[in-house]
Amino acid sequence: MSDTSSALRIVWIYPDLLSTYGDQGNVLILRRRAELRGIRTEIVHVHSSDAVPVEGDIYLLGGGEDRPQILAAERLRADGGLKRAAERGAAVFAVCAGYQIIGESYGDDADNPLPGVGILDIRSGRGETRAVGEIVADVDPALGVGRITGFENHQGRTALGPSATALSRTVTGTGNDGQTEGAFQGQVLGTYLHGPALPRNPELADLLLRWRVGQIPPLEPSWGERLHEERLAAAL
Ligand code: GLN
Repeated sequence: MSDTSSALRIVWIYPDLLSTYGDQGNVLILRRRAELRGIRTEIVHVHSSDAVPVEGDIYLLGGGEDRPQILAAERLRADGGLKRAAERGAAVFAVCAGYQIIGESYGDDADNPLPGVGILDIRSGRGETRAVGEIVADVDPALGVGRITGFENHQGRTALGPSATALSRTVTGTGNDGQTEGAFQGQVLGTYLHGPALPRNPELADLLLRWRVGQIPPLEPSWGERLHEERLAAAL
């Protein structure tokens, strides 16, 4: 067996329930950008019938339809592994349905509030319209990420509690509420951006890597940076 004790463990939560609009690309680009810096990685796929390991470094959750979202939230709450991992200081990157269910509560398809995993101080309900389309937003300068772009498709609207900070302010699109997009709290970060978000926004991918491994050298601009510029130009 290979020695994976010091590899960066990237845990992909419930690909069978939460993986819309290519969100699995987030896993691939994190691995790629880590390995280009000589950081070994181990990818762990956790299906909804599996226990969530507590010893991971970066946990990724994607988007989902309303019913798979409810099932995923119930299983994650019953399992407890993701919450324990976040309490240990693991990084979490959650998209759309994944973002909503790591919060305190979210709305089901009739907007009844259901409990979330409770690792991010947000509450989501359903809006009157569906937010669909390209989104551009400026990330909180404290994170050093700049402008991000993505594709959003959600009915939910999200309000932040006092322990969470808005990830970004929207330039176009809806995000949480038409003003802000996403939230973070320590190393737990959620966003409505698909696209997938990390290939479209390499600096966001590098933020997650820095959270776990500290300073990392810059990479030569490549197709990821070109894609970022192209999508920004197309959206504005
Ligand atoms: N079901 C959620 C909503 O509509 C999330 C959708 C998604 O993940 N794309 O708000």
